[in-house]
Parts: sequence; C-alpha cells; structure tokens
Amino acid sequence: MLKLDNIHVYYDHVHALKGISIEVKKGSIVSLLGANGAGKSTALKTISLLLKPKKGDYLFEDSPMLKKSSSDVVKAGIIHCPEGRRVFPLLTVMENLKAGSYIRKDKEQIKHDLEKVFTYFPRLQERQNQKAGTLSGGEQQMLAIGRALMGNPKILLLDEPSLGIAPILVKEIFEIIKEINSEGTTILLVEQNANMALEISDYSYVLENGHVALQGKSEHLKDDPEVRRLYLGG
Ligand code: ATP
Repeated sequence: MLKLDNIHVYYDHVHALKGISIEVKKGSIVSLLGANGAGKSTALKTISLLLKPKKGDYLFEDSPMLKKSSSDVVKAGIIHCPEGRRVFPLLTVMENLKAGSYIRKDKEQIKHDLEKVFTYFPRLQERQNQKAGTLSGGEQQMLAIGRALMGNPKILLLDEPSLGIAPILVKEIFEIIKEINSEGTTILLVEQNANMALEISDYSYVLENGHVALQGKSEHLKDDPEVRRLYLGG
C-alpha cells in the first residue's frame, strides 16, 4: 500500500534519513522503533510531505507521491496524528473533531464517523463541549487520534501515542489502535514503547541514526537478543 524506497532527507546540513526503505501492507500495523533522534518522526513527516526528500521514491497505492502536495496526501487518505497531541487548545472537543473532517463533503459518512469516534472514546462524547486545552494528557491523545479518524484515513500515521501518558491509559489506547486496525484502517506507528508496539504490530523496523538497522515480523523481533538488549530492557 505504502512504499518508501531509498529515501534521503536533510534538515539543512543534517542528513536525517540516510536511504531508508519501508513497506506497509494494506490492513497491517507496522511499527517504527528506535532511540531519540533515530529519524522516526522525520519518516512520518516525509510520508505526509511536510518534508521533501532529496533522493528516493515514495509510492502510495502504486501512485508516485513526491510531486504531490501535503494536501494531496490527506486527500489520498494518509492522515498524520502528530507527536505531542497537537489539538487546538481553545476549541472544544467537538470543534476539534469537526476540524478533522474539513476536506470532506460526505455529510452522512462524517456523522457516522463521529459516532464511531465516540464509541472508541466515550470520554470524548462526555466532554464534547469542553475546551481541548483543559483535557488531561491522555484525553488530548484520544482527541488527537479521534480527530485523525475524522479524516477517514486509509492509513493512519501515529506518532508516539503513548508519550507522557499513564501506563493504564497506554494499554487502553493500544487496544483501541488494534480495534481501529481490525475495522480496516492500516496503521504506521512510531513508538518509543517498543514492548507495546511489538505486541500490537505485524511488522517492525528499527531505525538507528537515519538507517533501518533491523526489520522483521514483530513476533520475531520480540525474541531477538539485540532488540531485547537495546529496546526491551534486557
Ligand atoms: P524522537 O523520538 O526524539 O522524536 P525521532 O526518531 O523521531 O526521535 P527525528 O525527530 O526524526 O527523530 O530526528 C532525526 C534527526 O533529525 C535528529 O538528529 C534531529 O536532531 C534532526 N532534526 C529533527 N528535526 C530537525 C529540524 N527541524 N532541524 C534540524 N535537525 C532536525
């Protein structure tokens, strides 16, 4: 469904992605793991075309993407849920969710998707009139995911959904990610929480200093001594 081939990305003189190749199959959950600064967020921003690679190829559903704009990416069904729960703090929960569907015109389907978001996250329904900036960290993360779902993604790019969230909520959010996937949305997940990410994903890539250092089925990587030593605490 989505393919990056030998992608190179620079921030001025910083060579942040040094020829990475990644494939995401339709219907799967793929995780991108790696330490701080490895290039995970840069990879997602490249897929959203917020950054333009200097070299390499990028295909989505067999269409070349690199000549397109970041709004074409959204129209194609690639929706980015960025790190740091970037909700609009002064807008209500409902206004944030509506903002997620701004490019759509299919009113009936939007209504259906809103109901769906409220079944995944009943707390958002209870708090629909509350300003997003006053939600707890976990609730803001739920809202960020809910808003992304309102864009009707074919593939959802999730950047660090567990960041700064209480462990009990992390578990809940990962269960919901799995449920979203089981209903047909493909997921590319960036995570520092390697244990959780390997648990729910089908395939994983480990990035190191802008390279793909390791890749494989998540169930195999979980047992890889190198992965255990570096990312799973022994
Ligand atoms: P983290 O989990 O800490 O966000 P990451 O794996 O997502 O890490 P990136 O944010 O993709 O890492 O960063 C990859 C490299 O690019 C790092 O060396 C980082 O310092 C550099 N980098 C990221 N953003 C910029 C920027 N705006 N300007 C210059 N260098 C940047």
